Amino acid sequence: MSYARDDNPTFGSAERMLAELEGAEDALLFSSGMAAAMAVVQTLAPGDHIVAPRVMYWGLRNWLQKFCTQWGIGLTLFDATDPAALPRAVETGRTRLVWIETPCNPTWDVIDIAAAADVAHDAGAVLAVDSTVATPVLTQPLALGADIVMHSATKYLNGHGDVVAGALAARSADSELWQRIREVRADGGAILGSFEAWLLQRGLRTLFLRVRAASRSAQAIAEHFDGHPQVEAALYPGLPGCAGHDIACRQMRGGFGGMLSLRIRGGESAALAVVRRCNVFIPATSLGGVESLIEHRYTIEGASSPIPPDLLRISVGIEATGDLVADLQQALDQGV
Ligand code: PLP
Repeated sequence: MSYARDDNPTFGSAERMLAELEGAEDALLFSSGMAAAMAVVQTLAPGDHIVAPRVMYWGLRNWLQKFCTQWGIGLTLFDATDPAALPRAVETGRTRLVWIETPCNPTWDVIDIAAAADVAHDAGAVLAVDSTVATPVLTQPLALGADIVMHSATKYLNGHGDVVAGALAARSADSELWQRIREVRADGGAILGSFEAWLLQRGLRTLFLRVRAASRSAQAIAEHFDGHPQVEAALYPGLPGCAGHDIACRQMRGGFGGMLSLRIRGGESAALAVVRRCNVFIPATSLGGVESLIEHRYTIEGASSPIPPDLLRISVGIEATGDLVADLQQALDQGV
């Protein structure tokens, strides 16, 4: 190490923890999840082609649309609920990157990582997986054939809502792609500060406890409110009725994650009223922390969003399950 923009022993230690959790040969921390994702995309050249799901973290989808237009990179968005859509979207020899997110934020559709890896590799592309919501506790994308795993470490990996960070982990540390990603980070300097790396390392020590507690409560909340008279639909990969449940059973182990959404009968105004009535759930926009959050995604994403206006996104924290169910129950029972 000759200069802190290239490397730093403090974040090196957190990177080794993450590599081990993901079964990766190497991992790199970034100043945000977005910076981590951008480093992957910045390895591409004009004329290349990216495939990504239509429903995914909206900030990244918006940036991809802008960046690809500006830099002459093709972008095809596919419907993650249709298993035939990804094979149709790739172009052999031109598609360089298949980007998936599973479960997809905020509808929690589940994408089959092993099948996506086969499609990507057959087309001559790499598969990168945003595994922010699944976390390495529940899914290890590299073992299923992915080349790169990405995390917004701002979320579950740190888990306390006090750090913005991103991470990438690679199946092969020698690949040309990984060397390019290293270069992008060293050249641009989107590194994590030492203090944030230390906080992240501390957060990682309780990752398994937090994710398991959140998954247990999320499952209980989804089951409790599925079929509630004020709920149009409960979206959660752990519900047998949800699209992707069978895939989730194959590729997620030990739970289905701490994120779910409820579509509220009565539309946008009814959904907003539920948010206002919550006392335990905090109306806020992040996810994956110890406190439970509730959010009206359409307000955040705006009119161009594919997300229905009746949808409330819920990030389940580590509070007592009964308190969380009771809080939503009283907010929903007041009616429209
Ligand atoms: N990926 C997912 C699934 C996210 O939810 C987010 C942020 O909400 C990001 C990526 C971007 O991460 P960051 O906010 O750390 O840049």
